Amino acid sequence: SSLLLKVNNLSKKFFVKSEQFSETLTIDAVNAVSLSINQGEVMALVGESGCGKSTLGRCILRLEEPDTGEVFFKNQNILALPLRELKTYRQKMQIIFQDPFASLNPRKSIRFILEEPLLIHGIKNRKERQEKVLMIAEKVGLSPGDLDRFPHEFSGGQRQRVGIARALILQPDFIVCDEPVSALDVSIQAQILNLLSTLQKEMQLTYLFISHDLSVVKHISNRVAVMYLGKIVEVAPKKELFENPLHPYTRALLASIPIPNPRKRRKKILLQGDPPSPTKPPRGCRFHTRCPEKMPICSEEEPLLWETKPDHQVACHLFPS
Ligand code: SF4
Ligand code: MG
Repeated sequence: SSLLLKVNNLSKKFFVKSEQFSETLTIDAVNAVSLSINQGEVMALVGESGCGKSTLGRCILRLEEPDTGEVFFKNQNILALPLRELKTYRQKMQIIFQDPFASLNPRKSIRFILEEPLLIHGIKNRKERQEKVLMIAEKVGLSPGDLDRFPHEFSGGQRQRVGIARALILQPDFIVCDEPVSALDVSIQAQILNLLSTLQKEMQLTYLFISHDLSVVKHISNRVAVMYLGKIVEVAPKKELFENPLHPYTRALLASIPIPNPRKRRKKILLQGDPPSPTKPPRGCRFHTRCPEKMPICSEEEPLLWETKPDHQVACHLFPS
């Protein structure tokens, strides 16, 4: 499989004014993240809310400007491109948002919402645009009659179909799916996941699939990257990650997934408390304040990602052991 996207050492901080203490706080949202995504794969990015997943996804698309780092898309460092030239790449890299309602203009018809990206990217022929709109609507399960309706007339699941259609209409190669089913009723989640999975195969798409929920990525992903407080702590093929998780944080996340057969229940590692504030990430291993396997070195030295075997990387002082 060939490399489509390579992220090197990407970091992003935010500065927020704290009214209460009249000081500026630094949020260390993404810290020195490196990640490779192959053509045609679904890479899941998993972690608790606030760990920097969405920021990383947005930085990769340059919807947010990273402070440092490189993002190679088809061997072009898109962070080095002037904004004018970025437009060509924007076509090939799209995003599907968590909340389809917030991301759709309520005053515009579905037809307009789907046609707009084509106009922006210079498809001048009206007939061609209309054909593309009809084609993509059908692909995501919308009827031609739906096109003249407005976002508020749709259910959450239907709106997410519109969000997916809009992301796909320019025939991208790469899509950041940012918690695409988290805002939907459980009964609808499987439908949308199946749709995303079918489209991924049919259109040979590559996804970075962001979720706080490992059970959501279990079926759709090929590989999984686990993120904690701005850092990637483990990356492995999905099967390997579920069967042989190494990082104590990954094991804790897995232990929190309900397992139908109680006899197969793993020994539980419970997560103690909430994650620390990203304004004050702990020294050394950022997980040490909650880790049941903490050792003296853990609060002193930051563990680096270590390849335990080809394709399986972990950042924890327990490895190499
Ligand atoms: Fe736990 Fe130490 Fe590993 Fe961090 S480095 S996950 S604190 S054992
Ligand atoms: Mg998010």
